Amino acid sequence: MALIVQKFGGTSVGNPEKIKNVASRVLGKKNEGNQMVVVLSAMSGETNRLTEFAMAMQKIPDTREMDVLLSSGEQVTISLFAMAVKAMGDDCISLLGDQVKIVTDSSHTKARIESIDTEKITASLDEGKVVVVAGFQGVDEHGNITTLGRGGSDTTAVALAAALNADACEIFTDVEGVYTTDPNMCNTARKIDRISYDEMLELASLGAKVLDIRSVTFAKQYNVPIHVRSTFTDTEGTWVVEEDKEMEGRIVSGVTYNRNEARITISGVPDQPGIATKIFTPISNADIIVDMIIQNQNTGEGTTDMTFTVLRSDYERTVKLLDSVVESTGATGGVQGSETITKISIVGVGMRNHSGIASTMFSVLANEGINISMISTSEIKVSCIIEEKYTELAVRALHDAFELGKDYVAVEETLV
Ligand code: ADP
Ligand code: ASP
Ligand code: MG
Repeated sequence: MALIVQKFGGTSVGNPEKIKNVASRVLGKKNEGNQMVVVLSAMSGETNRLTEFAMAMQKIPDTREMDVLLSSGEQVTISLFAMAVKAMGDDCISLLGDQVKIVTDSSHTKARIESIDTEKITASLDEGKVVVVAGFQGVDEHGNITTLGRGGSDTTAVALAAALNADACEIFTDVEGVYTTDPNMCNTARKIDRISYDEMLELASLGAKVLDIRSVTFAKQYNVPIHVRSTFTDTEGTWVVEEDKEMEGRIVSGVTYNRNEARITISGVPDQPGIATKIFTPISNADIIVDMIIQNQNTGEGTTDMTFTVLRSDYERTVKLLDSVVESTGATGGVQGSETITKISIVGVGMRNHSGIASTMFSVLANEGINISMISTSEIKVSCIIEEKYTELAVRALHDAFELGKDYVAVEETLV
């Protein structure tokens, strides 16, 4: 008898009919002789709808109350799912994060899972029940409800699979797996059969929202293979697993885009030791995450310009914080920025052993007349900041240029 964790996303449980379909799919698997733990998201659009309500109450909503509010979305779907299973003649128990005891830290709206008590789940499984757990939520040591950040139900599922030592962790969604780029943006996107944890971590952190980045971190840490697949078909999806030789043969595995960032420049800052800390300490003290940073010295003038990116939702707060930095440093150029940028990235473990990948990316963008305003690279990725209006054009051009729509043929096979 295998223990299987299955997670269904918002579109998979978008209305009562869809919840019934998910329930019968889960029971089909249970009737093959498996123990089933199910993790559900809120109905699609629900978390956004609740967020809008909150904004109507308070411009920057209180984060503790936000968690009380947002966690209600998943409470609805798990209770309906349990009723659907019972109506089908089987038994099921729904559990909220604090009923399981998914203990997190106290960082409201972006909490991290610290521990999971598996006792209640295991006892219910032993009684022959399906156990359905609310995704995306936990409880802190003081009994406050917490949520894990957008997309967090994936993380609940993988963390549960690790804690329960499950035989399989399946993430069901509205596409058939992880693709070479967003299949809803590029119709030549191809499903990837197997992808390494490291590549998936990069894809997720650079915008491929099909898996939440923290779920991949957990999967890598506890060596949980993830199977990402479609709720609506039985087709084999994508396996996210440890890297192997075949994967190294792929130079570029995927193209991603992220529209959630904004660019800020503070210019004409005196070029002196300590200037970077003067700029970035107030920002980090305000819990704002900075991503790319570029410093340009203005030779001869003794000044420097600092350009960096933050989450778009943190843009106004960051610009405000910099007012006092401009004053205290006497930055002559003040602060400028743009909220309409996109970060376009290419990712692939094969980049470690190949040169010229970044320059190919730059020339593809140049040929399309797209200006690059920032660049960053790591061992297995290259990212460029461009204007948001060129997002689709850039994704498609890069996908074509790196021939990602074609079936991948392993190097060994081509030599035969
Ligand atoms: P769920 O509600 O099931 O959690 P999400 O909306 O969070 O689903 O994630 C699935 C979506 O991710 C797809 O509909 C697709 O548009 C988007 N996506 C972006 N990049 C990729 C990619 N490389 N592969 C697959 N899907 C992607
Ligand atoms: N409901 C949450 C969201 O929309 C969590 C999730 O679906 O994974 O982000
Ligand atoms: Mg998701």
